[in-house]
Amino acid sequence: MDKRYELDQVKLLSVYTMGEPGKRTFFLIIGQKEDWIRVWLEKEQLEALGLAVDQFLFTLSREHPDLPRNEDETSLSDHVPSRMPSAELEIDQIVLGFEGEWAALDFLAHVVGPQSEETAQLTCRAALAQLKELGSQAKSVCAAGRPRCVLCGRPIDPEGHTCPSDN
Ligand SMILES: [Zn+2]
Repeated sequence: MDKRYELDQVKLLSVYTMGEPGKRTFFLIIGQKEDWIRVWLEKEQLEALGLAVDQFLFTLSREHPDLPRNEDETSLSDHVPSRMPSAELEIDQIVLGFEGEWAALDFLAHVVGPQSEETAQLTCRAALAQLKELGSQAKSVCAAGRPRCVLCGRPIDPEGHTCPSDN
């Protein structure tokens, strides 16, 4: 049986990263101040999310040019909750939608832990300005990774780099 989480008008919607360059792990914090869910994702998924948000907002602004921005309702915070998350999920798929004046993020995921085959669906509604901020966080976090080799374009680890084009 699927677990379902529904979070309306979230206050927290941010990208976090832990660890050294090259060994970083990525997660989103989604929820209200002390009632939140940790959503783990791969760097590739985070990159894709950043691009998808851009595309989504671009399409939306063309289809709804008169859309209210409700930016003043947004109080984005970099508050990291002190309480443990109420759930930990690993993302399989993210779908962006639009409901009323809100962005709807649908996360298809599975639960982290011993019952990791258990699937979950998380629906989160946020202001468009929050979604936009999430997208730019995703892009800047991904861009802040390891420097890339000018010869082969692959990331350079802190321990060094064995270049496949150097033979
Ligand atoms: Zn190289």
